[in-house]
Amino acid sequence: IDDSSIPSIKKLDDATINKIAAGEVVVSPSAALKEMIENSIDAGSTQINILCQKSGFDFLQISDDGHGIKRLDFPLLCERFATSKISNFSDLRRVGSFGFRGEALASISYVSKVTVTSKVANSELAYSADFINGLMLNEDGQSPKPCAGQQGTTIQVRDLFANNPQRKKSMGVNEEYGKIVEVVTRYSMDDKKTDLSTHNVQRPSLADINPAESEKLKNQLRIEIIKKTYGQNQAGREFIDVVDSLDLFQYSLSSILSKPNTLQSKKSFFLLFINSKFNQLNLCLLDRLVESEKIKRTIDSVYQQFQPKGGYNYFVYMSLFIPSEQIDVNVHPTKKNVIFERQEEFVEYIQDLLIDKIANTTGERSYMLDR
Ligand code: ADP
Ligand code: MG
Repeated sequence: IDDSSIPSIKKLDDATINKIAAGEVVVSPSAALKEMIENSIDAGSTQINILCQKSGFDFLQISDDGHGIKRLDFPLLCERFATSKISNFSDLRRVGSFGFRGEALASISYVSKVTVTSKVANSELAYSADFINGLMLNEDGQSPKPCAGQQGTTIQVRDLFANNPQRKKSMGVNEEYGKIVEVVTRYSMDDKKTDLSTHNVQRPSLADINPAESEKLKNQLRIEIIKKTYGQNQAGREFIDVVDSLDLFQYSLSSILSKPNTLQSKKSFFLLFINSKFNQLNLCLLDRLVESEKIKRTIDSVYQQFQPKGGYNYFVYMSLFIPSEQIDVNVHPTKKNVIFERQEEFVEYIQDLLIDKIANTTGERSYMLDR
């Protein structure tokens, strides 16, 4: 029998595999920026500066004052699955960093030209190297060039998606700029340690707030930031702030909700941060900007009970403090979606809490409420 017309199975080469994977992690300039901001925060930075040209398509630069990258680590920097953050699967249970998959920089290097300059505290010099397709590109192919520099890391990304015109065409420059601003704003909203600024957009930050300050007080400041950065049209005029905790779920929550029927925006905003306490003795808080379809849908339904049909828009900021063992962050390469332990129960609890708080402040319960 002649089977020559049946295609044979072949193993893809590494370059192809990496290119396919890269498109999944770095879908846009703002996605690249998010990964790099998280790396800077992981490196213990207190100040992060961002520059972008043409919404990051032409040029995106992020500088931080974190711990830096050792000279000997440069060759591995953009290699896929190379990370300094975990060493085995069990480390995932107590991962205290944003990153752990070692895919972000590798992916970025497959869709752009990357230059990294970095200096660690106990080195006199900074070092710099170019990367492309996962590899370091210096003349001798091995060592980064010595240069002058401050402690910390600067990463420059040029010509993003120049090698993928279809992807590039699918994104609008103005729309993407909006997303860049949103990523920066989101991180300056919640991170207590990091002061973020961008070239064109100055954002207020929570960096100056004393960590011991109560959540209530912080919420007051957050409301000011929300008003400044999002404005009345997008975030609304009046807010309800909620602070809650419950031992059953070992959780606590700080949230800011737009008052029902005060928001004229055409679109709803939901910002969710997970601040995981990953070590009981050494309480280290990590602000992780995530998404939860489940909580999002719950908030939709909560507002539907208080706002007339068709007017479901809201602005909700929510920060959850939860032990990291109770969330699964490894759902997708972008690590954005999270799944909670006892999710049904947990989300139902949050739903009841929000309904209660809203009903208390507005003094009304809608006809749809049957509890
Ligand atoms: P991951 O964050 O999952 O480890 P990345 O590809 O994002 O993977 O980064 C790879 C490695 O590069 C990190 O583990 C870290 O050691 C190093 N790195 C990247 N960005 C920085 C930075 N701004 N400061 C210090 N080290 C960094
Ligand atoms: Mg990372």
